[in-house]
Amino acid sequence: MIVTEDIQIDFFKKAGKLAGETLEAISKLVKPGITTWELDEFAEKMIREGGALPTFKGYRKFPATICASINEEVVHGIPNRNRVLKEGDVVSMDLGATFRVVENGKSMDYIGDTALTVPCGEINPRLQKLLDDTKESLYAGIKACRAGNTLDDIGGAIEDIAKAGLYGIVRDYGGHGIGPNYHEDPLIFNYRTGSKVKLKPGMVIAIEPMFNQGGDRVRLKADGWTVVTQDYKPSAHFEHSILVTEDEPYVLTKRPNEVM
Ligand code: MG
Repeated sequence: MIVTEDIQIDFFKKAGKLAGETLEAISKLVKPGITTWELDEFAEKMIREGGALPTFKGYRKFPATICASINEEVVHGIPNRNRVLKEGDVVSMDLGATFRVVENGKSMDYIGDTALTVPCGEINPRLQKLLDDTKESLYAGIKACRAGNTLDDIGGAIEDIAKAGLYGIVRDYGGHGIGPNYHEDPLIFNYRTGSKVKLKPGMVIAIEPMFNQGGDRVRLKADGWTVVTQDYKPSAHFEHSILVTEDEPYVLTKRPNEVM
């Protein structure tokens, strides 16, 4: 959506801040032996205690607060009591926090949506590089989020980093506008599509590159949610919610300790 009033911007900032803080908190809990279920419970409690709702829970019947996607899982992994993290895994965690506000008798949702991939214990340097480069591509995409630029400026900045690192780019999923119904137009691809759609001040969007150590191709598992790489090579995912301004992009979901 395009925000026009300061009060709307404040709610997006509040939602983004809580989402970022929650993501940072659960990323610090990642260690061998913890289950994705425990990460999910912690996140749900923190979001609710912060006065918000877990955006994903119930969204298209998704059963949990976070998506937890391990190794070859790209996105939308479902937290599970039996899924124990082990040394050398990489875990992608994605979450949303929603502030539901009644405005003029009408309910309105303000959402912060954010993700990152972290190592569990020691991981091999090549895998660490995949994580670092995917994160850098998010930052490059954010830098391109300036009023007057096109969606292709974002996709192109991300694609260039993927190409330099010889990574697969997930093409079936990508960033999106954020509005009261969570996902909104425009779709924001992580590669050049020739899009001439221009960014405007007040736009709230999520940018979320997903890079694979192998090829581009992904498939959906039988659970109807979990997306995995076709070749079972590991994947990384980083996401921020951004407010486009007249000047520098505002990173709504920036984490307290994040250096960009
Ligand atoms: Mg998103």
